[in-house]
Amino acid sequence: MKIAVLAGDGIGPEIIAQAINVLNALKADGLDFELEHGLIGGCAVDATGEPYPEATHALVTQADAILLGAVGGPQYDALPRPQRPERGLLAIRKALNLFANLRPAILYAELAEASSLKPEVVAGLDIMIVRELTGDIYFGEPRGIKQRDGQRVGFNTMIYSEAEIRRIAHVAFQAADKRNKKLCSVDKMNVLECTQLWRDVVIEVAKEYPQVALSHMLVDNAAMQLVREPKQFDVIVTGNMFGDILSDEASMLTGSIGMLPSASLDENNKGLYEPIHGSAPDIAGQDVANPLATILSVAMMLRYTFNQEEAALRIENAVQKVLQQGFRTSDIAAPGLQTVGTQAMGDAVLSHL
Ligand code: NAD
Repeated sequence: MKIAVLAGDGIGPEIIAQAINVLNALKADGLDFELEHGLIGGCAVDATGEPYPEATHALVTQADAILLGAVGGPQYDALPRPQRPERGLLAIRKALNLFANLRPAILYAELAEASSLKPEVVAGLDIMIVRELTGDIYFGEPRGIKQRDGQRVGFNTMIYSEAEIRRIAHVAFQAADKRNKKLCSVDKMNVLECTQLWRDVVIEVAKEYPQVALSHMLVDNAAMQLVREPKQFDVIVTGNMFGDILSDEASMLTGSIGMLPSASLDENNKGLYEPIHGSAPDIAGQDVANPLATILSVAMMLRYTFNQEEAALRIENAVQKVLQQGFRTSDIAAPGLQTVGTQAMGDAVLSHL
């Protein structure tokens, strides 16, 4: 198993170090892998002038999986757009055709108090958002800002081909099939033709998965239902822009973005695994960042790319035990409670592996 490691910026190197400790602990027990490090984001801009250098592209192309920390920082905000660290992320997703973004939102019972919603609304929450990642309005052409009738107009293009919709629908149906067999497809078909096609194609694909119960919801209603009664959902599938917004909303149901991993997969389950949070420049270098989202991303990597379910469960169980024992980084601690740092949290997970 070849794993490319792209630590990135801000808290990236600190949280990745803890994830690598977990991988190495599993290596001692017979898991066989090689790690190779590369640059992405701001650190790549500093070293090469590009957020996604050619050498990184070569490295990730020949890897089976990629473990990524986070990119970005205020020192890069004034750069021209093509050089911004976040462009590195869009570039790697597109270059590797990572069209399926899987974002679980799980609320560990121990953290129910950390959610901004009432504990009874979120306790036991376990939903999976499947977001299409390489199409939609984020990539559609034409796009730009132009002069028209003496003023500037801005425009983007929401576009999906039926092949793009079909392949993400298959990923979502298969994910639902492995869980509680409920899939909710989110669109805006009452207003947008592009998402009328989305709904039509999802209904066609559903015929291949009669065991999965399919429902449809308009995105505005879905945003509301996620905070009203989030436990009604099992798997949600949606396009790139709606998924971007809904998955961030869902993440906050669980209390902290420091807890949530993600996977971005291609057609052969090659994947990029990363925490959903950013580079958190406000806390970088202080040994306070929560490493659990990154450690849980390693569990997703073992499950989805390497089919190592047992090793994945070992990591997830170790995280759960650590939370049961009361270990908390500051982002998930109730006010006044004692907290541990990044390194100590990583060590606690290791001790329970
Ligand atoms: P952020 O996710 O970095 O931080 C938001 C808040 O959450 C901050 O208060 C931060 O301290 C806290 N936080 C984030 N991760 C945490 C962790 N593991 N433990 C404890 N607290 C944590 O979002 P932002 O502040 O909007 O963006 C900062 C930079 O990250 C920007 O340059 C942005 O473009 C970039 N970004 C990158 C990614 C990515 O790499 N995938 C995603 C989002 C934002």
